[in-house]
Amino acid sequence: MINTDDEQQKRYAVMDDTIPTKERIIAWPRMGNIDLSMEALVSSLGAKIVMPPQNTNEALEIGVKNSIEGICLPYKLNLANYVMALEQGANTLMMFQAPGSCRFGNYTKMAQKTLKKMGYKFDMCVFDMYQSKMKQTLAAFWHVTRCINPFRYYKGFSTGFNKAFAIDTAERLLFYTRPRELNKGDAEKCYKKWYQIIRETTSISGCKKLKKQVIEDFKKIPIDKDKIVPKVYLLGEFFVLLDPYTNQEIEKTVGDLGVEVQRQIFFSDWLEHVLKPSLFYKKESHRERCVRYAKDYMKRAIGGECIETVGDTVYGARNGVDGIIHIMPFSCMPEIVAQNILPKVSKKEDIPVLELVLDEQTGKAGNITRIEAFIDLVKRRKLREVNKNDNKIKK
Ligand code: SF4
Repeated sequence: MINTDDEQQKRYAVMDDTIPTKERIIAWPRMGNIDLSMEALVSSLGAKIVMPPQNTNEALEIGVKNSIEGICLPYKLNLANYVMALEQGANTLMMFQAPGSCRFGNYTKMAQKTLKKMGYKFDMCVFDMYQSKMKQTLAAFWHVTRCINPFRYYKGFSTGFNKAFAIDTAERLLFYTRPRELNKGDAEKCYKKWYQIIRETTSISGCKKLKKQVIEDFKKIPIDKDKIVPKVYLLGEFFVLLDPYTNQEIEKTVGDLGVEVQRQIFFSDWLEHVLKPSLFYKKESHRERCVRYAKDYMKRAIGGECIETVGDTVYGARNGVDGIIHIMPFSCMPEIVAQNILPKVSKKEDIPVLELVLDEQTGKAGNITRIEAFIDLVKRRKLREVNKNDNKIKK
């Protein structure tokens, strides 16, 4: 457990000032759609960017080869992203840090040591968004860009935030529309179109309009409004939830089986919660809601997304959700705790839970079979419930 600021500071990679600003080429690890916001911010501050390729088996191989065996899967992929970016010419690596009791607190320092041993020369710039909200974040971006123009920061943050909200809205609508669409593939096509538009929009005014435009466009897709569609919450560890390679595009698999997925963690929600000054954050945050709902099963957060996993399961069970899919990387410490609490929650709150543990050995076929069996169970439960309600109305 980390107790003091000094101890926390020791876990950070040491920043290096020797790279001239003009020569800096910035990269960061891949994780879902985070690139859209980071690209908007970094390029608005005038810096050059290198994007490592999307996560693939090749990236995973690089990560596995250069990491200790027991470390978490997200670390292995982060490390591979750094290696691939450095090979493409990056010399400045950015990463956010978080306090807490799991291995995430050591990611950057471990990666820095490993990459140095591998012979790379680079600066690793780490910022803790939880500790000082905007202050450290601004300091980190100033460190790598030396940009002193406040308008550029305003533009970067404004476009970055609006892009995050727009793409997350598109994802939510994709999850809602996919199981209801009349023409197979319409929702996916619409999402891909908007991903591209969101990426290419750079003006402040253009980015502000994106979310509304996304909603309008999804509304045009013909859907079966009367179809009985069960609702499943997808929850678990942050990285595997957001990274489609690691989670084997589980939202698509479940959606194609005629079920609406509601992922419980979105980048924009998290961004708003950690960066917005508490004074302006009036609503109950996702974490606060989870703490409230988890209280019968655990007394405090123990790191990672453990309390979110438990709290969301209880919340879902009490609010008409038909099933829970809990995904976690192999050996993830907080999620192992959640995994051991969930059977009790499932029994007490009467909600089916499917556990999927993902690691580099995971074959897709085995998981698809388990998901299909689970969805079959969820659908039968839903139909039973609908018939029961119909009978009540008839009586
Ligand atoms: S939450 Fe789990 S996977 Fe993520 S760093 Fe912590 S232990 Fe590793």
